[in-house]
Amino acid sequence: MRDIIKRMSAVIILSAIAMLGGCAAAQDTSVSGSVYAMDTVMTITINAPSDGEALLRGAESTIRRLDDMWSATKENSEISTLNTLGNAEVSTETAELISFALDTGADTNGALDITLYPLLRAWGFTTGEYTVPDKALVEALLSARGAPEINGTNVTLPVGTQLDLGAVAKGYAGDILCEELRAAGVTSALLDLGGNIHAIGGRADGSAWRLGLKHPRGEGNIAVIELNDRAAVTSGDYERFFTDESGRRYCHILDPKTGFPADSSLCSVTVIGERGALCDALSTALFVMGAQQAEEYWRKNGGFDMILITADCDMLVTEGIAQDVRPVDGFTGGLIILDR
Ligand code: AMP
Ligand code: MG
Repeated sequence: MRDIIKRMSAVIILSAIAMLGGCAAAQDTSVSGSVYAMDTVMTITINAPSDGEALLRGAESTIRRLDDMWSATKENSEISTLNTLGNAEVSTETAELISFALDTGADTNGALDITLYPLLRAWGFTTGEYTVPDKALVEALLSARGAPEINGTNVTLPVGTQLDLGAVAKGYAGDILCEELRAAGVTSALLDLGGNIHAIGGRADGSAWRLGLKHPRGEGNIAVIELNDRAAVTSGDYERFFTDESGRRYCHILDPKTGFPADSSLCSVTVIGERGALCDALSTALFVMGAQQAEEYWRKNGGFDMILITADCDMLVTEGIAQDVRPVDGFTGGLIILDR
């Protein structure tokens, strides 16, 4: 795992959020490794007194195991089998992840919707061969879907329904990894799962981890975030997108109401909280909702913090994280703190 870190480092800075320099990786007791899984580069840094390499190997095998279960594009994954057969017995973790995503989908008024796989395929987001599908096809695929049913670990999909767990899988995987690392005695680690950040504790010296939040419309970062023992997950329209001849941007997050890429005037949403799965689910859902509904959702539900960046590059930050977010020098947008 360690061997590929140098080769991958050029990619890591493209993540939505990335660890900034001066971290504990420079210290003797830390180990760091990268692996390509879930369509992204994942980098784990652990401050471990002794068996760091074994911890990294354990983390890598967990990541591969979960990717092999949850990928919608790997032929024999649990999700592919389910999508092909319409009914399958799945592992407890998969059943839990599907239930969690369905609950959060209901809770976000359908903004998070894990049944969009047929639409994502029609747009080419599953292969990178992008195309704007006919409106009639989009409408037909949208209305063909039904609600998945879960009975213990048995999942049934109505005809026309296929799952894609891309909006929640990395967050859930991060929670599982953190649980395993904590159980092994780790008190200081940073997991960068392709821009989904999970911090166990702070840095080796006890100070907070410092992360760069990528500028959605420019080079480098738009803000620096200090993070301690929390997850921070970003959804952005600059991560995977294509443009047509007129320059119109089509991003990989679809609005389940239209089947078209979400067009909510937000270009980046970061959710910070204790559970990575919830942060991941909400970053996608709030991106679809747009700034106003996202703010309403936060006011009603709480339990997380967020950083919204609008198309005009204004930054809205909730009060719980405001002290720990610093726009970079030269930030010209407006900074709005949302308080209750
Ligand atoms: P994220 O980067 O976490 O926001 O997740 C985006 C990924 O989730 C996309 O690449 C799709 O695979 C899938 N997806 C797109 N739109 C939605 C949506 N509205 N709800 C759930 N999953 C989605
Ligand atoms: Mg997400």
